[in-house]
Amino acid sequence: MSVFEPGSIVEERKDFIHTKGRQKKSLKCDSDSIAGCVSQRACVYCGARVVLNPVTDAVHLVHGPIGCASYTWDIRGSLSSGSELYRNSFSTDLQEEDVIFGGEKKLTAAIDQLVEKYPTKLVFVYATCIVGVIGDDLEAVCKNASLRHGIEVIPVESSGFIGNKAAGYRAACHALLRLINSGVNQDNNKVEKIPMSVNYLGDFNLAGEAWIIQNYLHPLGIKVNTNFTGDSTYRSLKDAPKASLNIIQCAGSMAFLAKEMEEMFGIPYMNISFLGVEDTSGSLLRIAEFFNSHKAVKAAEELINREEEIVKPLIEGYRREFQGKKAAVYVGGGFKAISLIKQFREIGIEVVMVGTQTGRPEEYETISDMVEEGTVVLDDANPTELEKFMMEKEAHLLVGGVKERPLAYKLGIAFIDHNHDRKHPLSGFAGAVNFAGEVYSTLCSPVWKYLK
Ligand code: SF4
Repeated sequence: MSVFEPGSIVEERKDFIHTKGRQKKSLKCDSDSIAGCVSQRACVYCGARVVLNPVTDAVHLVHGPIGCASYTWDIRGSLSSGSELYRNSFSTDLQEEDVIFGGEKKLTAAIDQLVEKYPTKLVFVYATCIVGVIGDDLEAVCKNASLRHGIEVIPVESSGFIGNKAAGYRAACHALLRLINSGVNQDNNKVEKIPMSVNYLGDFNLAGEAWIIQNYLHPLGIKVNTNFTGDSTYRSLKDAPKASLNIIQCAGSMAFLAKEMEEMFGIPYMNISFLGVEDTSGSLLRIAEFFNSHKAVKAAEELINREEEIVKPLIEGYRREFQGKKAAVYVGGGFKAISLIKQFREIGIEVVMVGTQTGRPEEYETISDMVEEGTVVLDDANPTELEKFMMEKEAHLLVGGVKERPLAYKLGIAFIDHNHDRKHPLSGFAGAVNFAGEVYSTLCSPVWKYLK
């Protein structure tokens, strides 16, 4: 049966796909991918690595075969204002012999060698599939290494097969909590809060995005205490309990950490979004209002007026070029998808297909409320489904990540990279203009007329 014929969706996938207006039921999500159905979603290890990789002065050691490490080596757009140690990718390169006799000795030797060559206070050791299968005792190896070297060696329980990418986010948050909670911060009640300060959660400083937001908050009198995890360090992460508020950009990866920090350190949290003009303005105001400071709110209003005056005419100029264009969205988290729907609305483009790798039920409900009748909403899609719905809905543009790019180009559809490997900022007012500009240059490129 051709994948384009009606009813060609794999039976087990039907509950994960929803067309607005046609079906009333809610979307199934947050479950493991169907075995044999190669989805666009990455593994647990990858989810953990996404969150932890931007910790700049840490050694990131992948305990597993070399292939697992290949995903990460310098393909991330996260920038650092200091150490460049995180740009290296280290692997224990497990071989057949290690699989048979165990990889603990090799891991111990690798940690010793790395710590000697790259003096650091922090080592993350990532478990991969094979480590879960052969049962190496990561905890014990890391504990011993930690005592031997007098530094933090933290195991990240991220064997690829133990769940989906969201489980990797959770494993990374556990590792971060372990770091924050050990040593100096053990007496949580004595941590003194810095007034008017925030931890910025779920920004990985791609192309310096965390710095853009920092520069917006500074004139409001609000200090960014710690970033999770863009441009973060061992020291800055340890200082996280001092913040008065946690603001969360990427809820998929950081909601768990925020909830735990509220319980442990009494830090309240709020979801914000700095994608698009509407969300950026709204978020700045909400943060200023949280601190109950008239001065901060006034400064936020001034900044918003000033920035909107600059960027709105620029965006309007692009908007005129996009009449009748339709977009498809396939990104990691639900919150980002919601922001993108709004952002496309800002530039006058209708979203006709929207999917995520790790969206949550409440996010899919919001997405469903926002989109027009007939829009396809789908969770944990595979390339066949993406292709089918993009063709069916006649999308002109796909927003996705590294794995979706070739798919779009093969179909002759324009593409925008919204993933961790990009090198240009899409956050804040500046990012909103970049986004519109990028949509313009890809969507209106003359190249497409030669491909049709
Ligand atoms: S951890 Fe497992 S699923 Fe992930 S890249 Fe390695 S082998 Fe593949």
